[in-house]
Amino acid sequence: ETYRLSDPSAVKSLLARHGFTFSKSLGQNFLINPSVCPRMAEECGAGPGTGVLEVGPGIGVLTVELAKRAEKVVSIELDKRLLPVLHETLGNHPNAKVVNDDVLKVDLQRLLQEEFAGMDVVVCANLPYYITSPVIMRLLEERLPIRALTVMVQKEAAQRLCAPPGTRACGAVSVAVQYYAEPRVLFQVSRGSFLPPPNVDSTVIRLDVREQPPIYVPDERRFFALVKAAFGQRRKTILNAVSAGLSVPKEQVSNACTTAGISPTARAEQLSMEQLAALCCAIESK
Ligand code: SAM
Repeated sequence: ETYRLSDPSAVKSLLARHGFTFSKSLGQNFLINPSVCPRMAEECGAGPGTGVLEVGPGIGVLTVELAKRAEKVVSIELDKRLLPVLHETLGNHPNAKVVNDDVLKVDLQRLLQEEFAGMDVVVCANLPYYITSPVIMRLLEERLPIRALTVMVQKEAAQRLCAPPGTRACGAVSVAVQYYAEPRVLFQVSRGSFLPPPNVDSTVIRLDVREQPPIYVPDERRFFALVKAAFGQRRKTILNAVSAGLSVPKEQVSNACTTAGISPTARAEQLSMEQLAALCCAIESK
């Protein structure tokens, strides 16, 4: 039997049969626009020989499209109540496996090793929006063997995540994302594409994981601490924000700015990744 997972009335009766009610706090808005999941599955790189890690399968509407294309799909779902539903909807797809766990806690290194041996791995997910940045950062920071992440996020989050350094919309998370990956916007998804409809529109983005960071920094932890300080008080000058945020004397930051060729009165959003890295190196070498 195939399930009409994009048909609102079919989905409602499936859920009613399982006594399922939506949890707002788990970010449960399920896709019912029939063109979105096939498109995400196409553009994420799922294909023969590919393993796909999905976060939050819900009732499996995207999972099914991934399973049709990939060698294997492993979906991490936190809500136990969805397991019997997924057991039913994924019945025809023996290459789809559901793991009942929290994506922020599960041992991903081990999971990828055990589930996807010998495969290229990509991530594809309609993310629960309350943990967008932590999930993306976890997937990038742990240097997992993942080629690309294709994720649906809130429209505003997409703008932030994809904003290049040196632009108004750039924040600490943009710099972090772009240190690990090359982001790009794929397409927009309106709020009416979900059951129930959320209060925001969405965007599908793709992050292609870099083999090498675009800049060299001697100590990543310190670099990200500097980035956080610089963007933490974005209306302040780089001199004041970094000095206050890292508790480094102003004179030392000022000298570092000179060494790095940066105006101490610049704002973080005006600096390129290279300039931020140069500033970090200059402060450290004092
Ligand atoms: N993929 C489905 C779709 O597109 O219709 C559902 C997407 S829904 C926006 C997010 C899903 O993530 C829900 O099924 C929710 O239960 C699950 N979820 C929420 N927090 C989670 C966590 N910490 N770990 C794993 N899954 C989580």
